[in-house]
Amino acid sequence: MARLQDPVTILKGVGPTMAKRFAQLNIFTLQDLICHFPRGYEDRTHLVTIDKLEVDVPACFKAVVMNTPRTAHIRKGLDITRVQVADHTARLNLTFFNNKFAVEQLRYGEEYIFYGAVSGDFVGYSMTNPVFEALSAQPIATRRVLPIYPLTAGLSNAAVLKAVRQALSICDPPAEILPESVRREYGILAADRAYYAIHEPQSMAEAELAKKRLIFEEFFVFSAGLSLMRAQRAQKKTVPYKNLDLQPFYNSLPFTLTTAQQRAIDEILADLGSGAAMNRLVQGDVGSGKTMVAAAAAYAAVQNGHQAAMMAPTEILAEQHYHSLSKLFAPLGVKVALLTGSMTPKQKREVRDAIASGEVRLAVGTHALLSEATVFCKLGLVITDEQHRFGVAQRAKLSSKGEDPHLLVMSATPIPRTLALLMYGDLEVSIINELPPGRQPVETFLVNESYRARINAFIRKQKEENHQSFVVCPAVEESEELSVKAVTVWAETLQQTVFPDLRIALIHGQMKAAEKEEAMASFARGEADVLVATTVIEVGVDVPNATLMVIEDADRFGLSQLHQLRGRVGRGGAKSYCILTSQNRNPDTLGRLKALCKTTDGFRIAEEDLKLRGPGDFFGSRQSGLPTFRVANLSMDLQTLKDAQNASAKWINTEGTADTPEGIALRARIGELFQRAEGTMN
Ligand code: ADP
Ligand code: MG
Repeated sequence: MARLQDPVTILKGVGPTMAKRFAQLNIFTLQDLICHFPRGYEDRTHLVTIDKLEVDVPACFKAVVMNTPRTAHIRKGLDITRVQVADHTARLNLTFFNNKFAVEQLRYGEEYIFYGAVSGDFVGYSMTNPVFEALSAQPIATRRVLPIYPLTAGLSNAAVLKAVRQALSICDPPAEILPESVRREYGILAADRAYYAIHEPQSMAEAELAKKRLIFEEFFVFSAGLSLMRAQRAQKKTVPYKNLDLQPFYNSLPFTLTTAQQRAIDEILADLGSGAAMNRLVQGDVGSGKTMVAAAAAYAAVQNGHQAAMMAPTEILAEQHYHSLSKLFAPLGVKVALLTGSMTPKQKREVRDAIASGEVRLAVGTHALLSEATVFCKLGLVITDEQHRFGVAQRAKLSSKGEDPHLLVMSATPIPRTLALLMYGDLEVSIINELPPGRQPVETFLVNESYRARINAFIRKQKEENHQSFVVCPAVEESEELSVKAVTVWAETLQQTVFPDLRIALIHGQMKAAEKEEAMASFARGEADVLVATTVIEVGVDVPNATLMVIEDADRFGLSQLHQLRGRVGRGGAKSYCILTSQNRNPDTLGRLKALCKTTDGFRIAEEDLKLRGPGDFFGSRQSGLPTFRVANLSMDLQTLKDAQNASAKWINTEGTADTPEGIALRARIGELFQRAEGTMN
């Protein structure tokens, strides 16, 4: 017997050349090969009679050869072989191109199984290049369900099938990891059967069952992994926070918290006082005031002798948090520091020293906080903002800088519940479902180029009312540099020809952090009337005086991303507007943009976006932190996902820690999965 870890070269017929081709498909071991699942099947089980063949519908039929195949050599490189076959219902002419040697094996008077599609014309039906096998031969291409594999150059479907079949005959498929009880409850095939059936199903129904099993398994492993992490963390005891009086903090706020903010804070305080490590997600639409909730948590940590760290996905956002939080905390005597990658080594060293000595109580920053060089003195609370940009692994890495610190993650991207469970299955959830008082919904319009003059007039009108505008240009796909050029040129055009008398500012991802910060800060101080930007302003940036968001070529953004961008306005008391421009004429595209005009409900937009684009693009970013699945399709297999989540939750609570063979294999698989996730996310 071979082992799953053995290289594919131990298979007969797989030498170095074949191995290279398999490597193109990321297939190195027998396990990789066995887990190279078909992307679909062709049902060739059903035999029809010749008179029942339908034009252009491939089918299998049994027929006797009525003459000796004849080959005509048309020209160099083109041979045509013809033969006539028949069953008791009809005769049929077959034509083969360049297949002389195979076809001439067909024996007059003998029966074969053929698979192909007829094409019809006024002289009658004929069939081109059908597949055929002798009645006595083992069914390979006919009389069966044929798996269709993802392929690469030089590797035929038949070659993959042959290799898989051989692999399955010399080694056992991956071990069973689904508990018997779960398989019974959800009608799930056992592992050994599923791995054979996914490749060589007896019927389409069996192929479906095998696929369902493997999808279920993927979801189950992931959900169980998250549940295990959650259970393990819940067991970790911490010293309960005693000092939970936040009155000084509340007194220093320039506003009263909304009921929803207060509720989220109370839930956080209950966690912090419980003696177990907190794992909480705060989810709230853009502008719902999550930063203050995080600040309250940080204040509580500091009051109890701990340090807090807040990680943001971009430098701009980190800087903005730093400014608002240091202002808020200065009168309370809490020292806040900023740490980002673009600071000079000297600056970084100074901040790191102050973090290590404990002088800094709240460290705000980007990924720089994760680096080896950053050492905390007594880290008790880890906050990540706009969490959907980070993976599970990064969250874990920041946590490892303290001794089981409390964890608070914040996300403005409303995530459909099922997906939220996948990403945050290990977290408790607080929802801020209320905006600060006085906010009016942002009125949104979709227009084409014929409105250009009116858009410009509208930008001017904001200025006349002492308000500011954003103009966002889409990223140019080919390169970051081109995107920067596009936005730079557009800013110049606006300045020079359209608004010579207005102050136009520019911000994009290739500017130095200090320049970006200055551009942003200066815009926030009201020193520019229009800020032309790439999507660097997407997350979190706060300028309450801005009342207009113009998004150029809006069809090139995802709906959730547009919703985020739109959230940059409507943050003060004044009525705000969002104008989406598009030259796209596709009715579907325009339809979804119009849908965005009609609703400001982030959750509905997210559901819509998920349906349209699938979770891969859902966040418009490769770093979504979402796991990738081999078989499962997140937008199509939602019911299976829910089943697997329920099953894994139940399993954790009942037999999850028992050392059954399935339990041991499952825990090993979970370990592998999260290790792999870490590898790809850092
Ligand atoms: P987000 O949830 O998108 O991160 P922020 O925390 O950036 O939202 O808050 C958006 C704006 O609302 C900020 O200017 C903030 O100061 C303000 N804000 C937050 N909470 C309140 C409140 N309770 N009342 C009035 N304004 C608030
Ligand atoms: Mg925010």
